[in-house]
Amino acid sequence: MVSTMDYELPEDVVMLRDMARKFAADKIGPNAREWDRTGEIPGEIIKELGELGFLGMRVPPEYGGAGLGYLAVSAIIEELACHCGGTALMVAAQNGLGGGHLMVGGNEAQKKKYLPLLAKGELFGSWCLSEPSSGSDAAALKTTAVLDGDTWVLNGSKVFVTNGARAGIFLIHARTDPEAPKAKGISTFIVERDAPGLEISPKEDKMGMRASDTVQLTLDDVRVPQENLVGELNRGFYDVMTVLEGGRITIGALSVGLGRGAFEQATQYATEREQFGKPLAKHQAIQFKLADMAVQVDAARLLVRKAAMLQDAGRSSNLESAMAKLYASEMATRVCLEAIQIHGGYGYLKDMPVERLMRDAKLCEIGEGSSEIQRMVIARRLLDLPR
Ligand SMILES: Cc1cc2nc3c(=O)[nH]c(=O)nc-3n(C[C@H](O)[C@H](O)[C@H](O)COP(=O)(O)OP(=O)(O)OC[C@H]3O[C@@H](n4cnc5c(N)ncnc54)[C@H](O)[C@@H]3O)c2cc1C
Repeated sequence: MVSTMDYELPEDVVMLRDMARKFAADKIGPNAREWDRTGEIPGEIIKELGELGFLGMRVPPEYGGAGLGYLAVSAIIEELACHCGGTALMVAAQNGLGGGHLMVGGNEAQKKKYLPLLAKGELFGSWCLSEPSSGSDAAALKTTAVLDGDTWVLNGSKVFVTNGARAGIFLIHARTDPEAPKAKGISTFIVERDAPGLEISPKEDKMGMRASDTVQLTLDDVRVPQENLVGELNRGFYDVMTVLEGGRITIGALSVGLGRGAFEQATQYATEREQFGKPLAKHQAIQFKLADMAVQVDAARLLVRKAAMLQDAGRSSNLESAMAKLYASEMATRVCLEAIQIHGGYGYLKDMPVERLMRDAKLCEIGEGSSEIQRMVIARRLLDLPR
């Protein structure tokens, strides 16, 4: 298939992408159905992902990471997602959210303490913004942190915590100034897994992205030392916005991978399956479906790469990240559904990867800001409306 994945990438990125492609084809693809069923990614795979540098892709080498830019990160995540959305989500969240927030707001001591462990995959970091009563309206969060002597005391609950079942640290966003306007009184704290008062729920039973675990947290008088404050007091939400600019590129890349995976499965199936005396791929209606799918996958990849290149140039990609995430995630669902259609009844069976890819894809329209929220971000920028 000729596509934007095959040209205009720097040589070092092509090398990393090919390494990710081989790992995904050899180690992830053959097991993805089982991980979807059990909701578990084996420890040895996590270890290998760490050794390949995929769990600390953007962490600078001085903290033990690969020091990659978003162009490389998006190429790698696309390859992983092509075979298993859940594995790609675990990797994307570790890089973009847990590690990502420490890189944006962490001080030197915090970076030295946690980033090398995160990069190797010896530690997972979960990022806890969503709460039972605040999802899209994230700045309305109710978890509180109150200074008592020299410790912060945290109370509240968090939902939809990716990687929470294996995380050693949780980045908890909490209200530190109840009098300030919503986004202006929020700060971020590192809470270690064994902190007294922290309760972690069993894994959620999800529709898709099942290999990636999701939990709820309850914080009941959880005490953390002052040194666990990440970034400036009451300015945590600004760091959240920066983290999401990058995170949305990784979810865009993940969506491209899911769409491409479904497209490739459908293409192969259409050349093998015969109806009315010839392969499906010889029927023009099927050819047109495949053509439309390929165009959409490529268009999404170009949007993702545009946002990635802006980030890599040190520029803001608020608008471009939202565009990439919106288009790529909706594309992934459309393309996966079309791939199922091309598979006919067999596409409806769990034997075929397209069924799982479609369930995985739907999450991308919801997590890290739903499609509706991306449209709001885009419209605000286009119309120059206040944020
Ligand atoms: C598998 C999974 C993993 C996740 N991982 C994490 C994580 O690691 N950390 C984390 O903090 N969160 C995580 N999330 C949470 C995710 O970010 C939220 O689910 C998402 O932001 C939407 O919030 P909500 O589910 O509360 O929906 P709501 O905000 O209640 O929205 C419901 C619907 O209304 C729409 N809507 C809301 N407001 C408006 C509006 N103003 N105009 C038009 N439509 C609107 C939404 O788009 C949506 O369609 C995860 C979620 C899932 C499902």
